[in-house]
Amino acid sequence: MLVDSHCHLDRLDLAEHSGSLDAALEAARGRGVGHFLCIGVSAENAGAVKALAEQYDDVDCSVGIHPLDLTPGETPALDWLLKELDHPRVVAIGETGLDYHYEPEAAELQQASFRLHLQAANITGKPVIVHTRGARADTLSLLREAALPQGGVLHCFTEDWDMAKAALDLGFYISLSGIVTFRNADALRDVARQVPADRLLVETDSPYLAPIPYRGKPNLPQYVREVAEFLAMLRGESYEQFAEMTTANFARLFPLAHLKA
Ligand SMILES: [Zn+2]
Ligand SMILES: [Zn+2]
Repeated sequence: MLVDSHCHLDRLDLAEHSGSLDAALEAARGRGVGHFLCIGVSAENAGAVKALAEQYDDVDCSVGIHPLDLTPGETPALDWLLKELDHPRVVAIGETGLDYHYEPEAAELQQASFRLHLQAANITGKPVIVHTRGARADTLSLLREAALPQGGVLHCFTEDWDMAKAALDLGFYISLSGIVTFRNADALRDVARQVPADRLLVETDSPYLAPIPYRGKPNLPQYVREVAEFLAMLRGESYEQFAEMTTANFARLFPLAHLKA
C-alpha cells in the first residue's frame, strides 16, 4: 500500500473523473493508494478538508495557513489554530513555512505565521508540514528555535542536499513529489538517492505538479504511483519495498493517522 502524503483534495481538477471526487479516490485506490493526507492552506478551507476527512475513512487532514495565503497585516490567531487542531481527523499542522520565491516582501509576515504554527505544534504535539522555497536559512533557523520533538516534514522538497541533511538532523522527514521526475531535476535526483530509507515520504501535491508522463496536466492522487515507481527505480529498491517503507514512515511521523492495518 502507498500513501499520498500531501494532496489538496478540495482543489482537484476532476475533469478526467467526470467531476467526481469519489471516482478520483477510487482510481487511486485501484492503483494501490490506501491513504490520503488532505492539506489545509487557509482559514477558509479548514472546514472543507475536515469534512473530507470525516467523509472518507482513508482520508486524514491538516489545518494551517500557507505562507502565500496570508493576509497582509493579519497574523493568524493562536486560539483559532488550536481550536481547529482539536479534532480527531486533524493529524498535522500546516501547510506553513516560508516562500520568499513568490513573495519576498512578505517575509516578516510569513515568519510570524510560521512561528505561530510551530508554537501550536509545541502545544499540541502534532507534527508540522513545512513548505519552503527560497528561504533555506530562515526555515532552518525557525525549526531549530522550535525544537519540536515530534518533528515534521519538508514537503515537495526541491532544495539541495545540505538543506536536506540539516532537516534530517533536526529529525524531519523529506517528502518528494513529481518534480523529481522532471527532465531538469538532476540535482533533486541526487538528493532523492541519499535520503535515508526511514525518512522518505512520497506525495503528489495534486492538483499541482503532475509527474512525467502527465506533466502540464492536472495532477491527481492516483499519480503518486508514478512518483513512487520512479523513486524506487532511482534508489534501486523494488516498488513493493518502497511502498512499504514510505507507508511505515508516514505512520511513524503521523501517529494519529487512521491507516488501515
Ligand atoms: Zn506547498
Ligand atoms: Zn501543498
